[in-house]
Amino acid sequence: MRMVASRKRTRALFNIDRIVHHDLYAYGLQFSVTWASDYWGVSRVIYVCMIVPAALSISMLAYDLVRNMKSKKRNDRQMLEKSMPVTCSNCKKRFNKTLVMLDFNQKQPKLVNVCPYCSTVLDSTEEKDSVIVHVAEHQKVIT
Ligand SMILES: [Zn+2]
Repeated sequence: MRMVASRKRTRALFNIDRIVHHDLYAYGLQFSVTWASDYWGVSRVIYVCMIVPAALSISMLAYDLVRNMKSKKRNDRQMLEKSMPVTCSNCKKRFNKTLVMLDFNQKQPKLVNVCPYCSTVLDSTEEKDSVIVHVAEHQKVIT
C-alpha cells in the first residue's frame, strides 16, 4: 500500500517536472536562474523527503527479515535438541528419555540413567534432566 502511494507521488513529481521543463516552454516560459534555483531547491528537498523514508523502510525490512531468519533457525535447533536431548556415548543413538535404574554397586544406592538400546550407564552430563538421588547417612531411618 505504501509502495503504491510512493509510486503515485513519484509519478506526480515527474509530471510536474515534465510540465515545467517541456510544456511551459511551449507556452513561452522564459528561463531565469531566480525562479529555476528556487524550483530546483524545492524539488531536491521533495526528492530527499521521498528517498530517505524509502531507504529507511527497506533497511528496516531487511533487518527484520535477517532477524526472523536467525530466530527461526535458533528455534528449529532448540526444538530438535528438546525432542532428542540424550545421546548414548556407546551406541550413539538419540532418545527422549533414559531408563532410570537403581545402582547397588556403590555403598549408597543411587538412581542412574541407562541407555534403552544398549543398557550402558550414562554420565549425568549427557542428560540435561538427569535425576540423581543421594541418600545421605543422616537421612537414613533408624529403626
Ligand atoms: Zn546406547
